Amino acid sequence: MLRLVFLFFASLFVIGASFLFQIPVAHAQDLEARAIEQVDEDLYRWTAGPYHSVFLVHDAGIVVGDPLSRDAASWLRTELAERFPGLPVTHVIYSHSHPDHAYGGEALDDGRTQFIAHELAAQTWKLNRAKVRMPDITFADTFSLDLPGGSNVELAYWGANNGKGSVSMRFPAQDVLHVVDWIVLGRMPYQSLDGYDILGMIASTRAVLARVPFETFVGGHADIGSREDVEFYLGYIEALHDGVLTGIIEGRSLEEIQKTIDLSRWSSLKQFDAWRDANVEGVYRQLIDDHYLDMRPEIEEPAVS
Ligand SMILES: [Zn+2]
Repeated sequence: MLRLVFLFFASLFVIGASFLFQIPVAHAQDLEARAIEQVDEDLYRWTAGPYHSVFLVHDAGIVVGDPLSRDAASWLRTELAERFPGLPVTHVIYSHSHPDHAYGGEALDDGRTQFIAHELAAQTWKLNRAKVRMPDITFADTFSLDLPGGSNVELAYWGANNGKGSVSMRFPAQDVLHVVDWIVLGRMPYQSLDGYDILGMIASTRAVLARVPFETFVGGHADIGSREDVEFYLGYIEALHDGVLTGIIEGRSLEEIQKTIDLSRWSSLKQFDAWRDANVEGVYRQLIDDHYLDMRPEIEEPAVS
């Protein structure tokens, strides 16, 4: 009954807002800003500063995505208890291994909560002695979390792209895809792409567009968007990689590539002016450091200075 009452009010909110209903919580600093927004029926995006995660309400409880941090997860636990009294957090699903998204899960653990991660994330945490709440369930390729009431979450691994064991989360009933870090909408990829694998970003993004049905995309940073927005993002990372690769093959230096590469089609992205050169440098470094392009015999004038 409580849920029905909630749904009634929730639907009023949705009708009242054009796309999202946002409940901002006052904080002195933007970095500590917290928010919960309804994305679709039963599915919410929650925010801690520049980080986003999701949660799904089902008949027997709540499934939460990344905990983000101890503080953020504690805040969320309190909010969930107020908004959905009596509903436990049944599952926490980790998006990938990086601690700035994965730490703090213990604040959501009520003793029966099951934590789910890709096996590579679990392996990495163990090897690196990370202080995360370790997963109870791991998987290699795909995993379907079937929930009471018939809803489910479909997890899939697409290969290396950012961190270890980075997976996509699909919410079929809502037609929503959630990906953290390796797809970012409305904003440039982060600075010089430290920890990213540009070829993996391209391959994984192409794969989800080709194989995963979704109407709405919710990222771990920046904006919510559509399938077309994901295609626009893919166009950017493809053009970035192609422009840098061509420059290196033609024997141009990093500075020359930064001057000549044409990425102006994507100038509407936030941080375009601030991070464009850093994005170019990041891909350049990856192609030299990871792929040894400067060691190719056909490139007569290595671009490395
Ligand atoms: Zn991130």
